Order: sequence, then C-alpha cells, then structure tokens
Amino acid sequence: MENTIAQKLDALLKLQEIDSSLDEIRKTRGDLPEEVRDLEDEIIGFETRIGKFKSEIAALNSEIDNFKGAQKDGEKLIKKYKDQQMNVRNNREYDAITKEIELQELDMQLADKKINEAKARIRLIEDDANRAESTLNERNEDLKAKKGELSLITSESEAEEKTLLGDREKHTKKIEERLLKSYQKIRDNSMNGLAVVHVSRGACGGCFSIVPPQRQADIRERKKLIVCEHCGRILADVESVEPVHQRR
Ligand SMILES: [Zn+2]
Repeated sequence: MENTIAQKLDALLKLQEIDSSLDEIRKTRGDLPEEVRDLEDEIIGFETRIGKFKSEIAALNSEIDNFKGAQKDGEKLIKKYKDQQMNVRNNREYDAITKEIELQELDMQLADKKINEAKARIRLIEDDANRAESTLNERNEDLKAKKGELSLITSESEAEEKTLLGDREKHTKKIEERLLKSYQKIRDNSMNGLAVVHVSRGACGGCFSIVPPQRQADIRERKKLIVCEHCGRILADVESVEPVHQRR
C-alpha cells in the first residue's frame, strides 16, 4: 500500500521531531563521549608501550642470567686449570695452562662489561616505563572522572532517549528507504540537524530564504515533495498566518 505524499510528509515531520529531541539530548553530553573515547584509546596506547618496556627488560634480564651462567662455568674451568697446573711436568705445559686461564679471565671480564651495559639499559627503560606508568595513572583518573560525569548526564536522559529511539524505529518503518536516505543526507549536511521544515512567514524554516507565493501554494497542497531551492530541505507545509511555533 503506497502512502500518499501528505502521509509521507507527516511521517517525515514526526521523524524530524524525534531526531531534533535526540539531538538536544546528545548536546547535553557535549564532547564528553568523544573525550572518553580518546582517553580510552590513549590508555590502550600507554598499556601497549608499558608492555613493550616490560618485555624488553625481561629479555635483558635473561641476557644477564646467561652471562652469569657463563661466568660460573668459567670459574669452574679456571679452578680446574689451576688444579692441573699443580701437576704439570714442565714449563711449557705450565705456560699453556696459564694462557688458558688468562683467556678465560678475559671472557669473564667481557661478560662483566656486558652485564653492566645490560643493567644500564634496564635502568633507562625503567625510567621510561615509570614515566609512562605515571601518565597512564593520570589518564585513568581522568577517564574515571569523565565517565562518572557522562554517566550522570546520561542517566538523566536515558529513559527519554530509549523511548525516542523506539519511536524513531517505528516511524522510520513508515518511510520508504530512498526517502529516508535523502532525509538522512540532508540532515547530515545541515548545521542544525533540520531536514524537514515548514515555510514560516514566507521563508524556508531552515535557511530563511524567501519562498515565492506560487511555490507556497504548491507546498500547501501537499501533492508532491518540494524542497527548498536554496538549502535543499524538504518543505513539509506552510505555517498558518497565526504562526504555530516550530520546535526549534
Ligand atoms: Zn531553505
């Protein structure tokens, strides 16, 4: 069953009324929803960074453990060499073992150096991690505050919003897809969210451009969809001389 133009216009007007009310509600929340989202993104970023720092530190610690293990092996080896030195048969053997011990000690010094470098690197990363951690804590505090603020504002209008969204769904079903799409498009492009307006005091209720009398007569007939020549908004009807106050 095809709706008449007048019915379509009435459905659009009703939808506009609902959407304007929803806009009002969303306006009371201001930038809070966006600020909450931004903070949440930022917090995820910090958590990722801190996780990276931690795994870098863990890798360096296991590097240190490996060097320490090698040093222990080296100590055992040196002890073994020194025992062997007690039982050498000649100077040549003695010198050869001394050389081995020296090489082993050199290795251990090198390991010490590497361990110290790794420890210094860990301290630097820990500094970065601590800074990130304290910023993260601040952001979490901010988020908690903003979420509290938002939920307070939201709770005041939650029931109303739910009802409006329910109504909205009901009314959109009465409007054909194509018309709904152009309604949405006009709304998205309009600063005040108005897609369907009345002609009020001879002018478009959206952009206040003059609507010629003949066009006003056509609009009043409600036999076809007429849009404002200047802003493209749908002109649903002409307000009577005694002006009915429009909702915004
Ligand atoms: Zn207009």
